[in-house]
Amino acid sequence: MITLSLAEIATIVGGQSHDIPDPDAHVTGPVVIDSRQVAAGSLFVAFAGENVDGHDYARRAVEAGATAVLAVRPVGVPAIVVEDVVQALGALARAVVERTGATTVALTGSSGKTSTKDLIAQLLRHKAPTVWPEGNLNNEIGLPLTALRAADDTRFLVLEMGARYIGDIRYLTGLVPPRIGLVLNVGTAHIGEFGGREQIAQAKGEMVESLPSAEDGGIAVLNADDPLVRAMASRTKARVVLFGESDEADVRAENVHIDGLGRPSFRLRTPTGCSELTLRLYGEHHVSNALAATAVAHELGMSVDEIALALSEAETLSRWRMEVTERADGVTIVNDAYNANPDSMRAALRALVAMGGAARETGGRTWAVLGPMAELGDEALAEHDAVGRLAVRLNVSKLVAVGGREASWLQLGAYNEGSWGEESVHVSDAQAAVDLLRSELRSGDVVLVKASRSAGLERVAQALLENA
Ligand code: ATP
Ligand code: MG
Repeated sequence: MITLSLAEIATIVGGQSHDIPDPDAHVTGPVVIDSRQVAAGSLFVAFAGENVDGHDYARRAVEAGATAVLAVRPVGVPAIVVEDVVQALGALARAVVERTGATTVALTGSSGKTSTKDLIAQLLRHKAPTVWPEGNLNNEIGLPLTALRAADDTRFLVLEMGARYIGDIRYLTGLVPPRIGLVLNVGTAHIGEFGGREQIAQAKGEMVESLPSAEDGGIAVLNADDPLVRAMASRTKARVVLFGESDEADVRAENVHIDGLGRPSFRLRTPTGCSELTLRLYGEHHVSNALAATAVAHELGMSVDEIALALSEAETLSRWRMEVTERADGVTIVNDAYNANPDSMRAALRALVAMGGAARETGGRTWAVLGPMAELGDEALAEHDAVGRLAVRLNVSKLVAVGGREASWLQLGAYNEGSWGEESVHVSDAQAAVDLLRSELRSGDVVLVKASRSAGLERVAQALLENA
C-alpha cells in the first residue's frame, strides 16, 4: 500500500479520530480485517460479523503493530470512526488507486473469472508490477482490500467483480473505476436470484457501462462467441475488442487441439501477429479464458510472442480450481470443488473426458464425483438432470452423485439418458463418497470432484490425496 497518515485517512473516509495521539502516524499497510494478519503499520478494519465482532479484536490488533483501527465506535485504542465501514473501505481504496495511477483491469462473467484473473496477472506481471487478488476476493470487501495493496510502483491492478444482484457491478466499478473492462460469458450462475439470463446480462453489462469513452482510453473486452456478451457493445462508449472463435473476433484461437492429458494447443491470432502455444491448464474452456487474457495484455502493450510464452507457463494460482494431482499409485485427482454452476459443470466434465483420453487406452476410467449446484431456483431439477445426461453422452465411466435431492436428480438424468445403473451411484455425503472411491480406484483412473461451494466437496479430494 502507499503510505498515508491517519489524518489523511480520516479525511478520505470522512471519519472522526479517537484516541489518536499522533495524527501524523502513518499506515504503511497491509489493510486487514483479520487481526491475525496484522503487521507493523497495518490498518485493522473492524467488522461486526454475525458471529465475531472485529471491535473486540481492536486492542489486540494495535498491540500486534497496527497503527490504527477503522471502526464504527471508539474502541479505546487509536481509531478512525465512521458510520459504515464497508463504504469507508471503498472510499479509501478509490483514493489509494487514484494516487498510484495504476491502470485498472476489471473482469466479470458467470464462469472463469478467477481463472482468467490469474492468467491476466501472470501475463501483465512480465511487463510491470501488478497487483491482483489472491483467490476469489470479488465483492464489496475483498475488492477494496485487494485494491489497497496497490503501491507507488504498481502499474497494473487486476480486479475480479462478482454479481449476485443488479447494481452489484455498478457499485464495484464505482469503488475502483476500471479503464479496461472484460466480460467473459453470461451463463446461469445464480439464475435463481436473477430470474433469467437476460437479467444476468443486464447485471454483468454494468461493467462496460462504467468504462471511460474510447477517447479517454476506455476498452471493453467482450466474448464474441456469447451473444449476450457480444450485444453489450451497444452499452458502452469504450472501444470494443472482441475475442473468441467468431471471424469478427480481434483475438482468436485457431487449430485448437486437446491432447490426451486434456491440455489445449492452438495458434493464437492477434491483430499484430500469431504464435503457437500449449497451455499447462486442463480443459478446452481455458482457451476462451486465454483469449480474454490475451486481448487485455495485447491492449496493454505486450507482443504476441511475450503473451504466448507467458501463457504457456501460466498455472492455476487459486486453489480447488482444476487442481490436478497424480498420486503415486497412478490415480489422478482433479479438485475442482471450489464452486459449480451448470456451465462450469459442463466445462469440467468435458475437461475430465479429455484428461482421461490417454489413460483410457490403458484401461483407466474417468470418475465424475459431483455434488449439488446451488442457487438455481426453479431451474434446479432441469439443470441437475441435464448434467447427469451429459455425463452419459460424454461417455464418462462412472458418476458418483453426492448429497441429497440434487444428487438424486443427477443420477436420474444419467439413468434416463443411458439406462445407467451400475455406472452411477448416489451416496449421501462426502465420507460415503471417499469410502466408495478408496475401495474402487485403480491406476490410470482420473477423478473429477466438483460441486457448489456450500457442498464442501474439496474434503473428498483432500481425503483421496491424504491416504492414498
Ligand atoms: P466464482 O463465481 O465462484 O467466483 P469464477 O467465475 O471465478 O467463479 P473460476 O473459479 O475461475 O470461476 O472457475 C470455476 C470453474 O469454472 C473452473 O474450475 C472450471 O470448472 C469452470 N470454468 C472456468 N472457466 C470457464 C469458462 N470460460 N467457461 C465455463 N466454465 C469455466
Ligand atoms: Mg471467482
